[in-house]
Amino acid sequence: MDITADRVVTIHYTLKDDGGEVLDSSAGGEPLAYIQGHGNIVTGLEKALEGRKRGDQFTVVVAPADGYGTREAGLVQRVPRRSLQGAGEIRKGMQFQANTEHGMRVFTVTGVVGDMVTLDGNHPLADQTLHFDIEVVDVREASAEELEHGHVHGPGGHHH
Ligand code: ZN
Repeated sequence: MDITADRVVTIHYTLKDDGGEVLDSSAGGEPLAYIQGHGNIVTGLEKALEGRKRGDQFTVVVAPADGYGTREAGLVQRVPRRSLQGAGEIRKGMQFQANTEHGMRVFTVTGVVGDMVTLDGNHPLADQTLHFDIEVVDVREASAEELEHGHVHGPGGHHH
């Protein structure tokens, strides 16, 4: 069965950066299950999986535009610590969700100097070329319920 829109695809993946450093991997754990054609995974990877079959193993190189985007300077902001009330102690690496003109974004605290906090709304992998090693573990039809929910149920997906 080929990978095409509305099918549930289960993959093992290893994600590396340009330097070959492993950023994320499903190896040794549960594989990832997603629904093809629903934007559940980065665009470049979804495109490369189209038409593949169970057992296929391949490498995909995804440019930033088809991955996690390019860095936008406008998404880096310095705000007074008091504007983050209720967040408790502010430390580098903490993350907040906030509504912006680009929609909901996750902001990461990248610096704290005195009373000022630097927040970066860019994805941590923005500007990075992504190198995926992929193994297609399974391809099956999605159930009507999975299509309605927009996510996979069972192994590798949601449990509810
Ligand atoms: Zn569900």
